[in-house]
Amino acid sequence: MLKNYNDILKNLKQNSHFRYINNFDGKNEKYIFLDGKKLLNLSSNNYLGFADNKTVTDEFLNYAGDKYSFGSASARLLTGTLPVYKELEDLISEMFKKERTLLFNSGYHANVGISSSIAGKGDVIFSDKLNHASIIDGMKLSESKFFRYPHNNMEALEKLLIRERNNFNNAVIVSESVFSMDGDIADLNRLVELKEKYNCILILDEAHAFGVFGKNGLGVTETLEITDKVDLIIGTFGKAIGSMGAFATGNRILIDYLINKARSFIFSTALPPINVAFSKWIIENKLTCTFEKRINMLKIGKKAGSESHIIPVIIGGNKETIETCDILFHNGYFTLPIRPPTVPEGTSRLRLSLTTEITEKELSNAILLAKQTK
Ligand code: PMP
Repeated sequence: MLKNYNDILKNLKQNSHFRYINNFDGKNEKYIFLDGKKLLNLSSNNYLGFADNKTVTDEFLNYAGDKYSFGSASARLLTGTLPVYKELEDLISEMFKKERTLLFNSGYHANVGISSSIAGKGDVIFSDKLNHASIIDGMKLSESKFFRYPHNNMEALEKLLIRERNNFNNAVIVSESVFSMDGDIADLNRLVELKEKYNCILILDEAHAFGVFGKNGLGVTETLEITDKVDLIIGTFGKAIGSMGAFATGNRILIDYLINKARSFIFSTALPPINVAFSKWIIENKLTCTFEKRINMLKIGKKAGSESHIIPVIIGGNKETIETCDILFHNGYFTLPIRPPTVPEGTSRLRLSLTTEITEKELSNAILLAKQTK
């Protein structure tokens, strides 16, 4: 048995698939410190720099004082619900003009809980091929049938809907808005059209867009003015907001359903109240004033050929991708190799992500270096 695990690990190493944890010395909004080196962090989801900005942290702690504890000690349905949870849920509902919102402990919890419960026996889920692992894991737990349509291919999705929709009761379409590994954006207008035409529930994961896109940072649905057309919008607090946790916002029936059926919500201790308070405080006090900086960040991404602040640099093989990261490391850049199964075989890449602090020059230098070493 143990020998088997060891063989698996050896195999992972041979194929450059082995994962290990980097023990960083520290980080701030722009730089990360490893092995005594100061590196420009091009692998951060801390898009607005809130996660480790000392001034912001001090300001929050000054406001929070001793009002919030560091542990909830219970699931929400037991004794884990304090006023700050509902305050944040109400704030999100109000911002999105939705009836209800439910907090989850992370984006992973949200997607697993939702994708596993929203469709049951006799139902179907249509999911973009590049949707996040948490959506896939949720669908695998679900008793429904699911189909993964080719990435962002609306013709293929419609063909599937024509062929399969009527064989099932409820049908769900699920997509990310900004795709986490490719940085491209789903064709949301078309998804809305298809969901209406074929009578489906549309779920959108805005993990990488919440806090970044839209005047108020609501995400791509705000930019396109279609927030009301999406049945369930998921956002996370662990990326642009610099905190932890996630939410799903939608109508009262869907949210009540999730409270009753989403097992990752029901059976897990609620987020620490201090984190919930931090997410709420950032959204209320800091988000809208980042508008100019967010627009600038997206412009830099666009100039680098992406539709968003996430810029993939495809290298191909695993080994070459790791070597490219090493060369960038020695030149002062921290980047991570993204390999299968996270991305399709043969498309290993550097996933460069911008933050509002990273300049156009810093990004273009890193891309140039990566391409030279390819
Ligand atoms: N959805 C997407 C699209 C993601 O990229 C991620 C995290 N990388 C998640 C959900 C999970 O969010 P969390 O890190 O809060 O669990």
